[in-house]
Amino acid sequence: MGEGAPLVAGNWKMFKRPSEATAFCAELAPRLAGIEGVAVAVCPPFTALPAALAGLVGSVVRVYAQNVHWETEGAFTGEVSAGMLVELGVHGTVVGHSERRQHFGDTDSTVAWRARRATEAGLTVIACVGELEDERVAGRTEEVLERQVAAIAGAVVERGQLVVAYEPVWAIGTGRVATPEQAQQAHEFIRGLLDVPILYGGSVKPDNALELLSQPDVDGALVGGASLEVESFAAICEAAARSSRS
Ligand code: PEP
Repeated sequence: MGEGAPLVAGNWKMFKRPSEATAFCAELAPRLAGIEGVAVAVCPPFTALPAALAGLVGSVVRVYAQNVHWETEGAFTGEVSAGMLVELGVHGTVVGHSERRQHFGDTDSTVAWRARRATEAGLTVIACVGELEDERVAGRTEEVLERQVAAIAGAVVERGQLVVAYEPVWAIGTGRVATPEQAQQAHEFIRGLLDVPILYGGSVKPDNALELLSQPDVDGALVGGASLEVESFAAICEAAARSSRS
């Protein structure tokens, strides 16, 4: 485990309207009040960021966006800048999620530019990396991770605002979680390349969280599906708090 409390971040993807975010946060904030030894964040869609920020005022839970553009402003229809997120009061942002890489053309370069600009603007960045199933089967996991991490490491100067999320693509939304040994091995490899907190993501659930989070190089979790219900998300946060005590 790196220094500091583990971080559990909930990636809501394209779920929850503003009214649903308000209801979720009204339940989550008291549920996590008093929890210690874990940092917690939610990553709503852009349209629900104001509702989440309002609903989590005074709580331990921070609010992150799911993506950010690398330019400060301009003719980039459909994009949002780091300055826009900072003005809202957002604490950080995810970049390079595999769904952005797979469906929206993100590359190692664009992920690196997003990470650089967001950290320069004062946001904390959760930068996602991870191999496809074919790449793992072909024995290319470390080669892929090295390429992805090098792009991010080469771009970001503000290392204190950088977190990496190792998300094997074959484990995202599939229920096929990496074994704790696979996660530890990948995290140890990434830490040798870049010494920042490293989250595991890929089908983290309440019943597998403690074992994954207890691995020495797993510093937290990026949670998709199980972050959409207060009960399962809170249970994972509690597992992280336990892992930091053991
Ligand atoms: C994710 O969206 O980053 C993720 C890990 O999803 P899930 O937990 O549903 O696999």
